[in-house]
Amino acid sequence: MIPVRAFQGKDVAVFGLGRSGVSAARALMAGGARVHAWDDNEASRKAAGDAGVPLVDLNRKDWQTFAALVLSPGVPHRFPEPHRIARMAQLVGVPIVGDMELFALAVAELDPAQRPRIVGITGTNGKSTTTALIGHILRAAGKDVRVGGNIGVSVLDLERLHAGAIYVLELSSYQLELVQTLHCDVAVLLNIEPDHLGRHGGMEGYIAAKRRIFRNSQPEDWAIIGVDSPRMQTICAQMLFEGGRRVAPISSQYALGRGVTALGAQLSDCLGGRASPPIDMSAARALPGRHNHQNIAAAYAACRALGLDARDITNGVLSFPGLPHRLETVAEVDGVRFVNDSKATNAGAAEQALRAFPGSWWILGGRPKEDGIEALAEHFGSVRKAYLIGEAADDFASVLAGRVETVKCRTLDVAVAAAFADAAASGEREPVVLFSPACASFDQFRDFEARGDAFRGQVLQLSRQRALRETA
Ligand code: ADP
Repeated sequence: MIPVRAFQGKDVAVFGLGRSGVSAARALMAGGARVHAWDDNEASRKAAGDAGVPLVDLNRKDWQTFAALVLSPGVPHRFPEPHRIARMAQLVGVPIVGDMELFALAVAELDPAQRPRIVGITGTNGKSTTTALIGHILRAAGKDVRVGGNIGVSVLDLERLHAGAIYVLELSSYQLELVQTLHCDVAVLLNIEPDHLGRHGGMEGYIAAKRRIFRNSQPEDWAIIGVDSPRMQTICAQMLFEGGRRVAPISSQYALGRGVTALGAQLSDCLGGRASPPIDMSAARALPGRHNHQNIAAAYAACRALGLDARDITNGVLSFPGLPHRLETVAEVDGVRFVNDSKATNAGAAEQALRAFPGSWWILGGRPKEDGIEALAEHFGSVRKAYLIGEAADDFASVLAGRVETVKCRTLDVAVAAAFADAAASGEREPVVLFSPACASFDQFRDFEARGDAFRGQVLQLSRQRALRETA
C-alpha cells in the first residue's frame, strides 16, 4: 500500500466504496488522516466497514470540516449532473479529487532523488492491452515494475514508492478528470472515439479529460500520441506547436517520418530523427490486427523513452502472452483456431476482430447496443458464416439476411459446436472460429469475463472430447 500523508491530521470525506474508494480510505488512514467514508449502496458500505473503513453518513455532515472529498471515478461530479454529495462539496468549496490524485500527492512528498518514474496510458480503446504490454516488456527487461490504476490493482494498493521503480498506470477519462498534479514522465494517448459523452458534457469535454494526461509534463518528458484519425492528428499538431515536452507520434496506418510506425507488423523507429531498419513483429501471435499494431507502436515508443533498447523491447513484445478475452487464442482443435474476443461488447471492437481475422466463422450476439452491427457491413463479405446467440439473434439475423449465411443458435454452447463442425469440414488451412459478440453480455452472463470463460470452457471440453475419441 502507498500511504498518503498530504491530509495528516485532517478530516477527509471518501464517497464511493468500490475497490478504489476502499483503497483510498485505507491509504489516507495510513497517512494519518481522519476518514469519513460513505456509499449509497448498503452492501458496499458493509464490505468497506468489514475492511476497517470508518463509515459516516456524509449526507448529514457539516461539509465545512472537510479538507477534501475523494470521489470514486464512477460517480458524476459535473455531467450529466453532479451527484448530491459532489454538489455538497462544491457548495462549500471542498476540493474534489480521486485516488490517482492522492497517488500524485504521495509522489510529490518524496525527495526528488527517491521519485519513481511514472508511465500513464489512456485512450478510448487499447488502454489495458498497452498498459499490460508495457509492464510485460519492462519486467522482461529486468526492471522493477508495478502495473495498476484502471487495470487490475488500484493505484494506492501498489507497492510502496521508491527510486528506481516504474509505475505503469492505466488511466480512464473519469480518473483523469479528478487529477490536478499527476506528472507522467511518459504519457500515452492512443486514440479518441466518441464514448462516455454524457459524463463529459460532449466530445469537447471528453477530449479535454483525455488531454489532462499531459498536464504537468516537463521538457524532458514524453507525450506519445496515436495519429490514426484526423482528430488525433490535430491534437498531436497542437502539442507539437505548444512545445514544452517531447512528442512522439505513433501510427499503424501511415508511414511517418518521425516517431514510431507499425505497418503490417513491420515496426520502424524514427524516434531519433532517422529511420532505423524495420523490426518484424509478425511473430507476436498474441497481438493480431492493426489495432494491436498501434498498441505495439505505443508500447515500443514508451519503452524507448524509458531507455530500453530495441532488442529488449522486441523480445518483450514477442513473449507477451496477451490479455484474456481480447482476441485471445484459447485452443486449436483439429486444426481449428478458437479466438475469444468476449471484450468486444460493441461494433467498434468487433470491427477490429473482423479485420484481424477475415474469412472466419463468426459467433456474435448478446444484448445489442443501440447502433447494432450495420457499421460492420464492409466486413460482412469476408465472414464465412455467422452464429447468432442471445437477445440480438432475431435482429441481427434480419441485418445479415442476404449478406451473410446465418444460423440462430441462441446459446453459446450450440454456437461453438456448430461453428466448429463447419470450420473443421471446410478443408481450409488454419480456419478460425471467432467469438466477437459486438454486444453486451448481461442477457446470458454476469459480465464479459464470465462470457469469455464460458467460451473457453466449451472449447476445452470440445478439445477433451476429441482427444478421448482419438484414444478410444
Ligand atoms: P480498453 O482498456 O481501452 O478498453 P483493451 O485493451 O481492453 O482496451 O481492448 C478492448 C477492445 O478494444 C479489444 O477487444 C479490441 O477490440 C479493441 N482495441 C484494442 N486496442 C485497440 C486500439 N489500439 N484501437 C482500437 N481498438 C482497440
